[in-house]
Amino acid sequence: MLTTNPFDDDKLREECGVFGVYNAESAAAVVALGLHALQHRGQEAAGITSWDGALFHSHRAMGHVAGNFDRDETIRALPGRVACGHVRYSTTGETALRNVQPLFAELAGGGFAIAHNGNLSNAIHIRQELVRRGSIFQSTSDTETIIHLVATSTYPTMIDRFIDALRRVEGAYSLICMTPEGMIACRDPLGIRPLVMGKLGDATIFASETVALDVCGAEFVRQIEPGEMVIVSDTLVRSIRPFAPVAPRPCVFEHVYFSRPDSVIDGHSVYSVRKAIGAELARETLVEADYVIPVPDSGVPAAIGYAQESGIPFELGIIRSHYVGRTFIQPADNIRHLGVKLKHNANRALLEGKRIVLVDDSIVRGTTSMKIVQMMRDAGATEVHMRIASPPTRHSCFYGVDTPERAKLLAARMTVEEMAAYINADSLAFVSVDGLYRALGEQCRALGRPSHCDACFTGEYPTPLTDHEEIPDQFAMLEPVPA
Ligand code: AMP
Repeated sequence: MLTTNPFDDDKLREECGVFGVYNAESAAAVVALGLHALQHRGQEAAGITSWDGALFHSHRAMGHVAGNFDRDETIRALPGRVACGHVRYSTTGETALRNVQPLFAELAGGGFAIAHNGNLSNAIHIRQELVRRGSIFQSTSDTETIIHLVATSTYPTMIDRFIDALRRVEGAYSLICMTPEGMIACRDPLGIRPLVMGKLGDATIFASETVALDVCGAEFVRQIEPGEMVIVSDTLVRSIRPFAPVAPRPCVFEHVYFSRPDSVIDGHSVYSVRKAIGAELARETLVEADYVIPVPDSGVPAAIGYAQESGIPFELGIIRSHYVGRTFIQPADNIRHLGVKLKHNANRALLEGKRIVLVDDSIVRGTTSMKIVQMMRDAGATEVHMRIASPPTRHSCFYGVDTPERAKLLAARMTVEEMAAYINADSLAFVSVDGLYRALGEQCRALGRPSHCDACFTGEYPTPLTDHEEIPDQFAMLEPVPA
């Protein structure tokens, strides 16, 4: 298809995890372990690229980390002491494999591999300009835009060309890159997506979340700061700040849903924050009931917080099958509906004749809530009060968390009362935006200068949304190239 709009045949909004190892025996094996711990960040594809001191090697495939990297021969085919990897959620289809990361290109200064978590909000705009000037794109991923910007930059060194490229992009990026000279980790100036650094003996590790350090026995060193670039080569670890400083705005949804509860993000234990949100929720929206029931697994920490604060007993009223992936991460609506039934089952013996508070982390389309409320009623619950451990999700994310277009967000279409009727709950309530910030240890959401990106709840996007203000048209490619 003739197109400069990557949205046409694939999805640009991705959920991803990245992991990199510099200077370890069989680095690819360590990366496979790390990616395994990041599997929740993207379950449809995984890839690893290694550098053996002379050549780059790569294996990228659709499917889970375990299925792709569990064989000795696969890891042996990725030799070297330097490697990086990526897990990704994308739509399925024949175009998908070319988008699986790390992406790799031979540039003037040598090979360049890149693994990206986040989403650029001006990638289509830049891509159109690059295509007009003769760039030939191999994928529909926004990440490839960075490679082309590096390739066409006129600065002398690879690092300078990389910085030059990043100064032109907007949006969210936590990146791990490999060149023959070393490994580069970089977090965008707002620090929207997380990125941490660890140590494993002599090896330096970079990962989306601390849980990936834990799993391979690495020690947490520190997070990569918003706007920071860390360059590792030989035994040297250098840190530079190549961007104009701005107040950081890390994504609050990492705390609500996206990160694993055993991770520490921007200095906060995700588990503790989720419990604190549940306690706020109880203070703000208390209701009389017999049990607090979490929607597993994502609602569990908040439900514990709600139960502890309210004094209502916490019980497992829903049992989750662990052999089904995250409901939301399925490409088609019909599979999503099917997924909910496969994933959760009611604990009838407990629920019969009981009034329950059902706690989940978020409502997106409302599909999960509607099915689960019905499941609770079918199992004999007499009252079902739904409590949500985030404010209503009213706006799409353009920074790397997969949310549907606004029209499909239940809270963008309905009032809370209408939503309660739609999911057939006796009552429905969300934690307030200030309650969410209190759970992060703040008094309230600072007006004008909030500490996090909360655009999905407030609609205040911290970067320009160049691509979304001006929808590109596919015939633009036929226009004459400007002189
Ligand atoms: P929905 O059924 O569309 O309302 O989705 C809500 C459910 O999906 C909640 O139980 C969340 O745990 C989960 N969820 C929320 N946001 C995301 C996301 N970006 N990716 C995957 N799952 C999500």
